[in-house]
Amino acid sequence: MSKFLDERYNSLAAYVPGEQPQDKKYIKLNTNESPYPPSPETLAAVNVGETEALRLYPDPDGRILTKKIADLYGVESKNVFLANGSDDILNFAFIAYCANGRKVYFADITYGFYSVFANLHSSDYTVIPLEDDFSIDADKFCSVDGCVFIANPNAPTGLALSLQEVEKIVATNPDNVVVIDEAYVDFGAESAVKLVNKYNNLLVVQTFSKSRSMAGARLGFAIGNEEIIADLHKLRYSTNPYNINRLTLAAGSATIDSQNYYDDNCQKIMDTRAWTTAELEKLGFFVLPSRANFIFATSDKIDGGELYLKLKEQGVLIRHFATERIKNFNRITIGTPEEMQIFINNVKEILEEN
Ligand SMILES: *Cc1c(COP(=O)(O)O)cnc(C)c1O
Repeated sequence: MSKFLDERYNSLAAYVPGEQPQDKKYIKLNTNESPYPPSPETLAAVNVGETEALRLYPDPDGRILTKKIADLYGVESKNVFLANGSDDILNFAFIAYCANGRKVYFADITYGFYSVFANLHSSDYTVIPLEDDFSIDADKFCSVDGCVFIANPNAPTGLALSLQEVEKIVATNPDNVVVIDEAYVDFGAESAVKLVNKYNNLLVVQTFSKSRSMAGARLGFAIGNEEIIADLHKLRYSTNPYNINRLTLAAGSATIDSQNYYDDNCQKIMDTRAWTTAELEKLGFFVLPSRANFIFATSDKIDGGELYLKLKEQGVLIRHFATERIKNFNRITIGTPEEMQIFINNVKEILEEN
């Protein structure tokens, strides 16, 4: 830290992404990426012609992709906002609705970026604890006096609220924006997109990083009431109107055109999730019922931190969080069936050695 840094940021604890080690080839089950490559159409879209066009700025409104997303979700282009990953959108939403002492509510165990943004933007934030079974009690988020951020399905638990529960939260907070972060919704949860025409305080955030195999391209989108979308555009035009590059826009459009390929991948991942859950349960693990492309599991036979380290030695990366409430759990991304077989074999070996 230099002496020049604004002292407001001295104590800022930055977000810590899952590790991306370069020392050897790992089976990566630690950052919820897709184990499957983008579709052939997506690959073809990132071609020489598009690369030659990099000398030109991209369309700052990403109109072609915006329209495709609007059509896919049954809304208008004015209800859709694109950004450089969904983290970019969450940042804009914090700036717009809960910065500088304004109130915001989120769960104690949830996506780690919410508290980082809350600190960065000096939000007055309140953490609402999950229940003992790690579920969210929707009633605790009803009629609060500030903005609400909920990951649905939640991370790292994988548990999801029903659409009725989400609607209750949105309906009882008419004077505040409710952000539903649906990074994992395509793996078996219900989307709140169908509520955006009914409520003017709902912002649904999704990403191409998980179900659409594009984590490296950085593309997120939000769907909401046109006035909320206009707020976000205002902030985007005040920071970086060209926040999505040409290659990503082209890849994103081709991705929407090949939606069936991605739907099939999600189904494969859900099938592998069921298999992996059953195998871990046979080994005595407790696994939360997940609606995401990861599972959250614990065993009383081995400490969570120890399992993480031993698997890493064997070339398998999973995610362990040191937070008190969940320190004996691990979050395991669902890979290919072959990768999950190796993971299970390694877990068996480690348990036998213990
Ligand atoms: C992965 C993730 C994001 C961020 O996704 P990007 O689009 O890659 O920025 C946002 N929210 C949750 C809950 C996530 O798990």
